[in-house]
Amino acid sequence: MRLSQFHLATVKEIPADAEIVSHKLMLRAGMIRKLAAGIYTWAPLGLRVLRKVEAVVREEMNRAGAIEVLMPSIQPRELWEETGRWEKFGGQLLKIKDRKESEFCFGPTHEEVITDFARAELNSYKQLPINFYQIQTKFRDEIRPRFGVMRAREFLMKDAYSFHLGEECLGKEYWNMYNAYSRIFTRLGLGFRAVEADTGAIGGNASHEFHVLAESGEDAIAFSTGSEYAANVEMAEAVAPSAERPAATATLERVDTPTQRTIDEVSAFLGVDATHCIKTILVRGTDGLVALCVRGDHEVNEIKAGKLPELPGDSQLADEAEIVRVLGCRPGFIGPAGLPDSIPVIVDRSAAAVANFVCGGNQDGTHFRGANWERDARITRVADIRKVVDGDASPDGKGQIRIGRGIEVGHVFQLGTKYAEALQATVLDNDGKKKVMHMGCYGIGVSRIVAAAIEQNFDASGICWPEPMAPWRVAICLINPKNDAAVIDAATSLYDELTARGIEVVMDDRGLRPGPMFADMELIGIPHRVVVSERGLAAGTFEYRARRDADSRQLSREEVLALFA
Ligand code: ATP
Ligand code: MG
Repeated sequence: MRLSQFHLATVKEIPADAEIVSHKLMLRAGMIRKLAAGIYTWAPLGLRVLRKVEAVVREEMNRAGAIEVLMPSIQPRELWEETGRWEKFGGQLLKIKDRKESEFCFGPTHEEVITDFARAELNSYKQLPINFYQIQTKFRDEIRPRFGVMRAREFLMKDAYSFHLGEECLGKEYWNMYNAYSRIFTRLGLGFRAVEADTGAIGGNASHEFHVLAESGEDAIAFSTGSEYAANVEMAEAVAPSAERPAATATLERVDTPTQRTIDEVSAFLGVDATHCIKTILVRGTDGLVALCVRGDHEVNEIKAGKLPELPGDSQLADEAEIVRVLGCRPGFIGPAGLPDSIPVIVDRSAAAVANFVCGGNQDGTHFRGANWERDARITRVADIRKVVDGDASPDGKGQIRIGRGIEVGHVFQLGTKYAEALQATVLDNDGKKKVMHMGCYGIGVSRIVAAAIEQNFDASGICWPEPMAPWRVAICLINPKNDAAVIDAATSLYDELTARGIEVVMDDRGLRPGPMFADMELIGIPHRVVVSERGLAAGTFEYRARRDADSRQLSREEVLALFA
């Protein structure tokens, strides 16, 4: 591509609403232009990158045996009524009417449409397993569209849906997709982790999110320094301490803490480390109040606690009036020692390993010190109910937990029979019996990947594309081409030779001065730059610089070509 024939539109100013680096750089490089909140045009430069991502995704999906389809973005209300999601999907669903007042939505996802397709197309177990995918535009009316194409309202997704006779077969395809996803993100040159995710309300069997690790990520992720282990912070197991609980040596004593209610205040006032304090919160259980105890330096994890048999999934904190009525004290002075027998005491594994601790005295203005489990405080159950913290042992026994941030670029999910059941998508099995199909779904945020890649690959001058995503691999920059036929000839011959080798090259023949020309090529992140100048030609060399190198080198034509052998 000759840049003089292309539409490159880099800009210096950064729009005020661009908060994160990828959004700023995509605008400055002229990759995208905003049309409305969360709705963007992919300018020619941006589209080249988007198509690269799409191509890798398509190749690996095909290689994994999935079959491409293309479903409509406009979907009828009646179909969404069949799964109950017309109402349940909530505000993200963009609803529209046609001239006959029939209602539709712009598809935020395609479980309904693909299951409708499958119930019509598939009727025998012999057609299974099968996995259909598409690369298609989605619309979700996000509450807070932001960060450019990272959290857009209109965006490009690859979504795949597999159909199976049984769970075991679904499990196999799930790992097939998991491996395909790992290949996709590896091929794109991204640093990523497959993260165990909560299956949430859908309640499927297994779910992994693929996250690109980056500071600006919206999700907190716990990952191991010593292995591939990674999980959403809500999901990550906090392992039991290896050391046994020390002996109960101190005597229980009630001490005055007139205004000290938080762990920080109490620990400073009594001169006891937070690791030797027990934090107690009261929540509404399925049958009255329940006490949750964690170490003073830890936090209760609501998602883990919600899985306890004593608690409903969405348990609420007890309010102050309730606590005063049941315990006679206010929050901030609650402790496990001397709680009424009606209140189950659930103790985190780390908290259960502490002896001679400080805890609330269940009387306003007092705490206990020298308290001990069993002797002074009942334990109904020891469970993992806390959030993991930096430095915890990794649950797989290898390395330590670090808490980092991630951008979700992919999601694989075993749906089970939820949608097939609602839409009665059945096939006849081996014995001629009707069976509801099992389903998996697998999404990749194709457009989000472009932004996520920049979050991992930039410097002060601009984007540093991983080679597989770069709009072009090589930029040939011509110095003073208008006055110098020799420069044009040498550049054209190099361009032709590289192009013949299948390398994508952009020739900057716009006649800009070197400063602005180099700045543009750095901003748009071309991995290799070759400068052709009169002076270089006289010395028989080209100036070469890789995007991430600090200095340039003088190379002969052969040496340049050898870089791309
Ligand atoms: P998120 O938690 O980020 O809102 P999600 O869990 O709702 O995403 P899925 O339904 O799993 O998203 O969609 C599959 C993929 O589509 C996601 O992994 C993500 O990469 C991408 N995606 C989802 N929402 C958006 C969006 N608003 N803009 C761009 N990409 C998106
Ligand atoms: Mg998701």
